Amino acid sequence: MSPHRPVIAIYPGSFDPITKGHEDLVRRTLRVTDRLVVAVSSTSTESKEHLFDINERVELIQEIFAKDDHVEVSRFDGLLVDFARDLGAQVVIRGLRAVSDFDYELQMAQMNQELGPEIETLFLVPEVEYSFLSASLVREVASLGGDVSRFVSAVVLQRLKEKIG
Ligand code: ADP
Repeated sequence: MSPHRPVIAIYPGSFDPITKGHEDLVRRTLRVTDRLVVAVSSTSTESKEHLFDINERVELIQEIFAKDDHVEVSRFDGLLVDFARDLGAQVVIRGLRAVSDFDYELQMAQMNQELGPEIETLFLVPEVEYSFLSASLVREVASLGGDVSRFVSAVVLQRLKEKIG
């Protein structure tokens, strides 16, 4: 890699909704890359229903990083390596919270290595207070009336209240 070529990373996920754990990873990524594209998948490989539709998920992330020129948000479907190539991204960011993430993440990273050998997967670890945090847990706790204000930004909290009541 040329030393002058900006390092572009993509951070793929469903972000339903974006949590402070995701935000923590975005900020950590910017310490080691020049640009980050948060890639919101419009399809899900898991058989889970989304609480927020694709446009809502994209908008929330855009609002949170509105003042940060180094962060872009894009929706994507299809193969991650194709999307990375189209953007000229060299790095895929994934988070590792606990050992439970490891099996799936390793399989996916190795598959992506086969499909796109020029693209590296970089695993980042969140601050410990977010290591048990997942978007699905936020959805579950919020839907049961629990307080999730420590785990999501104010805009997300507001949208959760509007949606769930
Ligand atoms: P979740 O797993 O919370 O439903 P996503 O499917 O959007 O969220 O996950 C996208 C990526 O972000 C995955 O690599 C996942 O491991 C990572 N991630 C999600 N929550 C956190 C967190 N609290 N800390 C670090 N990484 C996280």
